[in-house]
Formats: sequence, C-alpha cells, structure tokens
Amino acid sequence: MDKLVAKKKVLVIGGGFGGVFAAKALARLGRGKLDVELVNANNYFVFQPLLPEVAASSIHSADAVVPLRQLLRHIQVRQAEVMGIDFAEKKVIVVQGTQRIPIDLYYDELVIALGMGVDLKRFPGLPEHALTMKDLADAHRLRTHIIGCLETADVTEDPAVKQQLLTFVTIGAGFSGVETVAEVRELVRRALKYYTNIEPDQVRFYIIEYANRILPTFPADLADYATRRLQIHGIQVLTGVGTKSATGTGVEVTDGRIIPTSTIVATIGNSPHPLVATLGLDMKWGRIKTDRFMRVPDHDGVWAIGDAALIPLADDPDDDPMLYATQTAQFAVREGRQLAANVVARMNRKELKPFAYTSKGSLASLGMSKAVADVYGIKLSGTLAWLLWRGFYLSFLPGFQAKLRVGINWLVNSVMPPNIVQIQSNPPATRYIHYRKGDRVFEPGMIIDGFYTVVKGSFRLIIDNPETGEHFEKVFGPGDHFGERVLLRSSLRTGLVVALEDSIVLFIAQKAFTRLARAFPILDAYFKEYIERTFGGHDQAFAPGSTNHKAELETLP
Ligand SMILES: Cc1cc2nc3c(=O)[nH]c(=O)nc-3n(C[C@H](O)[C@H](O)[C@H](O)COP(=O)(O)OP(=O)(O)OC[C@H]3O[C@@H](n4cnc5c(N)ncnc54)[C@H](O)[C@@H]3O)c2cc1C
Repeated sequence: MDKLVAKKKVLVIGGGFGGVFAAKALARLGRGKLDVELVNANNYFVFQPLLPEVAASSIHSADAVVPLRQLLRHIQVRQAEVMGIDFAEKKVIVVQGTQRIPIDLYYDELVIALGMGVDLKRFPGLPEHALTMKDLADAHRLRTHIIGCLETADVTEDPAVKQQLLTFVTIGAGFSGVETVAEVRELVRRALKYYTNIEPDQVRFYIIEYANRILPTFPADLADYATRRLQIHGIQVLTGVGTKSATGTGVEVTDGRIIPTSTIVATIGNSPHPLVATLGLDMKWGRIKTDRFMRVPDHDGVWAIGDAALIPLADDPDDDPMLYATQTAQFAVREGRQLAANVVARMNRKELKPFAYTSKGSLASLGMSKAVADVYGIKLSGTLAWLLWRGFYLSFLPGFQAKLRVGINWLVNSVMPPNIVQIQSNPPATRYIHYRKGDRVFEPGMIIDGFYTVVKGSFRLIIDNPETGEHFEKVFGPGDHFGERVLLRSSLRTGLVVALEDSIVLFIAQKAFTRLARAFPILDAYFKEYIERTFGGHDQAFAPGSTNHKAELETLP
C-alpha cells in the first residue's frame, strides 16, 4: 500500500465503544485532513450492557448490535482480524474473511481499542465447561443452552439429572454477573408455563462472588438492597466464596461444596487481550500503560483507549486503581472523543489535553422491573431506578434504528410470552472434558457419542457380559484411549467407564472420528490391531477397516 498519501492515515483497531466513538470523532474533527479506517473482527458493534437481555430473550440478538457501516458512514470499515503490529514499519497485519493471506495496513497514527480477553485457566475445568458473557455469540449460546436444559429437564425421569439441569450458576457479582443471573432467572420463570413437568421450586439459581459483597462499585446500601432483591427472587447469593473447579456436571466452590449444575456462566477472568499481550508494550494489570494523553510511551503515533488501556487520571497514580480510568463503556466513549481531539491537535502542532473524566455513576438491573442506580451521587433503587436504567441505555445506544428496535423489543416482551425457540448449533467436534473422581463417563445402554483420549488422570473400563458371564477390566492413563470399540457400530455402549481421580480427556465426536479413520489409513490399521490385541479380537467386526466400518463409512456424507 502506498505510504505517501496526502491525508494522514489513522487506523483504529477494535470497533467497540472506544474504537467506534474515536473513529466518529476523528472523522468529524479531522475532516479533509485525516483518512480514518476502522478494523474490527465482526461487521457490527456490540452493545455489551444489553447482552444479558439477549440471553434472556428480552431483546432479539440482532437488535443489541449495530452494523459498523451504518454507524460509521463515510469511514472506511474493514472486517478483518488483527494478527500483529509492526511498530517499526508502522503497519498492522490483518487477515480478512476467507482470504487467509496477511495484509499490511500502514498508518501514521494507530489507535489500539481491542478491549480485554477472558482467561479462566486459573480454575480447572472452567474454560471448558463455563459459558462466558462477552459478545453476541456468548449471549446467544447461553439462551440456547438454558432452553435446552428446560427441554430435557421436562422429560427426564432421572431426578439427579433433572436437578443438575435446573440449577443455574453465575460466577462473579459485578454488574454483568448480577444482570446475567437476574435475566437468566427471568427467562426461566417466564418460560416455565410451557414446561408442565417442572415445578418452580425445582429450579435453583446461584450467584457466587469471591468478595464479601456483590456489586463492589456500588455503595454498600445499594448492594445490600440488590442482595435482598435477588434473594426474594429465589437467587442464592454466595459471597466470600470462590470457585475451585468445574466439570460438565457441577462446580466446586472454595467452602468445599459441589453444586451439581449443567449451566455455569463465568463473568470473571478479565485478562489481557491475547494479541495485545504479545506486542511487547509496557503493561500493568493486563492493560497497556499510556500517558495522560493516551499515547503509548516510546511508540511514535501509537495510542490506546478503552478496556485495553491503563490511562492515568493523575500525574503520579502509582498503584492506586482509583487514579486510573475505569473499564466501562462510559469511560471508553469519553476516551475515544478526547483521543480524537488529541490526534488532531498533534497534527496541528497544538497542545494536547490530558484525559479527565469523573464517572457519572452506575446502574444495574435486577430483573422483575427493579434496579439500583447511583447517578450524580443520587442513590435510587426499585422501579424508578429500573426505568432510569432502561431510559439511560436506550439513549446511550448508538443509532436511531437500534434505539427503536430495542424499544419495540422491550414493549413486545412486556406483553408477550418469551420466545423459547431453540436454534441449535453443533458443539465443537473436539473438546476437553473434565471429570471429578467417581464421575461416570458412560455406562452400558448409552448411545455412543465419540472417542476419548486421556490427557490427565485415569479411568477404569468395566465390561460385564450377562450372556457369557465374561468380565473385563482395564485402567487407562495419560495417552491411552477408550470408547472406540463400539464407536463404529452406531449402537449402544456395552461398558462402564468411571474416573478414578480428577481427570481430563480430549473428546472427538463420532462423525469426526470416523471421517479421520476413513481419510487416514494408518489410524484404521492401528485401531484394528489395537482392538484385537486389547479385547482379544471380540467385537473386531466393528473395528475401523472392517467390512462393517467400510459399509458405514459409505453412508457418511
Ligand atoms: C455483559 C457486560 C455488561 C456490561 N455492562 C456495562 C454497563 O452497564 N455500563 C458500562 O459502562 N459498561 C458495561 N460493560 C463494560 C463495557 O462494555 C466495556 O467497558 C466496553 O465495551 C469497553 O470498550 P472497548 O472499546 O475498550 O472494548 P470492546 O467494547 O470489548 O471492543 C473491542 C472490539 O475489538 C474487537 N477485536 C478484538 N480483537 C480483535 C482482533 N484481533 N481483530 C479485530 N478486532 C478485534 C472486538 O470484536 C470488539 O469489537 C459491560 C460489559 C459486559 C461484558
């Protein structure tokens, strides 16, 4: 790309609150002098504060987002993933859509507004078994998952499975956690009339918070009100309790109890953005250190804003978190606007202004038309606060169309039953699964699902053949595998597999596994030999490479 352009090229990477408001202001303030381009992974802007409402079906998923091209008319929008930045060459490397070729985008000024990542690795099993609440896909997945739980809970005859399906756990009680648990409860409560085999008292909701109270950014009396309100709604509020580990059947908390559940929503684990963490920039608390003007020190023409940036509000903020801009949409928007003014000032060789902003307050919805609000020092709770919450977010939503759609959604949702259509998507073909000691992976009579490789821990396989009186046992450790013997039979499991300790497997779904075996003859030969060796040749007719297998493969798409 030609670097010698008349206008200065400003590249904004990240189309969230910070990036969008910066790009808008840059285009306005630098009209005729700046060539502004915004790069974002999706072609839409996500209004994150409304994600819990999307999960609860109060708002249609497409209405909590706004197409970037609609929002940023007259600005070049590029849907692409940022893969790297070369600060010396002043270029950003991106990959766009299906065109898997790295493209160089040169800049004179670069605005990094990529937000934060989520890292749950500190808690074994949480990355694999928790749902997160960060983007549109997360909210959509949670909604689909909840409806799926209700569908199965309504028809299962196993009381333990029913209890697990009807227990919903949210981890983290900041405003996103509180709003999420309240909205999940709202969806379940309203949907229950269609699930006649579920009694309301069979459903349990938990919110787990490590700190001693919920909503740490709110005054204590409002947090107390919110706690009482959640409890009145049947939500169990566990404070001073951390998360230890999770599996597909439950979450273990630090007081030792295991809560059986199929639904864990994690609103914790803010971590550095994975790309930002590799840029070699000076970081603190997972964020890029900037000066008071939002410039990244020692990097000419590089700026950082939003959640990704650590912007001081005083000259010597040191380790006092109160002296840095907070990670909220409110701040990101102001940072974006101030940054644009500073970029233009730098171009005109004028003095830059330090970023200064005082939060106007916080709002959190508690469901059932109640909220808490601390705005301009005025504390409100209940229905009035909830009306304020709705009014505020409606006005904050960028674009008239988005405001109208969300307003109509709210209106329709208040008089109509919730939409319980479950639009399913296939789970990933390979995934890690955590088991706690004693958990059953599968048992005789279950439909076969896939192939298991032990990554950590150990399992025991027991096969009892009531017809022949045959008994077979085998222990599997790391690197071993199980589940393949009947995999290609498209029938039922004949063995029982139990975890002997806390363990992890890599699971490969049946279809993916059989396709691999078909395409990779060495696998076919390996499994044939393995099954003969391990199981004394019985069931070998179902080994990959056998006639049965080949016939079955023919039927695969
Ligand atoms: C559930 C929830 C509720 C919230 N509620 C509130 C609230 O009520 N009030 C409030 O003030 N704040 C709230 N927040 C916080 C607020 O949303 C964030 O502080 C704000 O979004 C930060 O803006 P940002 O621009 O820094 O990052 P983001 O809004 O996260 O935007 C980052 C953008 O970068 C893009 N991106 C990331 N990586 C790449 C890449 N490699 N290539 C291309 N693009 C990339 C992403 O797709 C995204 O569009 C909430 C957050 C959540 C998750």
